[in-house]
Amino acid sequence: YKKKYSGLYCVGCEEYYKENDLIDGLCPEHKVAPELIEEENYFFKLSNYQEKIKELIEKDEVKIIPQSRKNEILSFVNSGLQDFCISRTSERAKGWGIDVPGDETQKMWVWFDALSNYINALGYGSDDESKFLEFWLTVDGQKMSKSLSNVINPYDLVEKYGCDAVRYFLLREIPALGDGDFTFEKLEKRYNSDLAGGIGNLLSRTLTMINKKNIIFNRI
Ligand SMILES: [Zn+2]
Repeated sequence: YKKKYSGLYCVGCEEYYKENDLIDGLCPEHKVAPELIEEENYFFKLSNYQEKIKELIEKDEVKIIPQSRKNEILSFVNSGLQDFCISRTSERAKGWGIDVPGDETQKMWVWFDALSNYINALGYGSDDESKFLEFWLTVDGQKMSKSLSNVINPYDLVEKYGCDAVRYFLLREIPALGDGDFTFEKLEKRYNSDLAGGIGNLLSRTLTMINKKNIIFNRI
């Protein structure tokens, strides 16, 4: 449905923020003050589906693992689902984007499109299929983004630290079922303490011992 809407908009995020999502009045990602914008947009009536979504998750018809994430989603649903905006005026989108069918004054909101893309491309699937949630890999607590120019190129890391060190860091520090955070300090700490100090030291002592005691290993 279409309604007039006013909100605090961050151009970098392409997203509206609520007053209490801001930190000192600034976008938490971009650290810039959002603009107050009023316009007419299309909304998705998510509030209609609150009870249905809750029921599907509670009864595990939509199964969310691990349990901690299921609880998190349920408490989010219980806090009240709000309708959200799924279009932008063509004027503000500067003519860029996918038209809202039947209304050329509006473009689809890029993040609505970005997520529905997956399901449109892959199909809606059957009831017994599993889907995985996606998690964020942040840099020093912030999302990687071109506008913050904090993107880390993994090939540069491999060149500097070597492939195995980067692999070790990712396996050691980045959880499989949650967000992970990267910093050069963390990588270097793992490198020095675990790889050099721990495993490296163990290897070096073992080799010295083998040499001293003149231990011969037979291939089996
Ligand atoms: Zn932003």
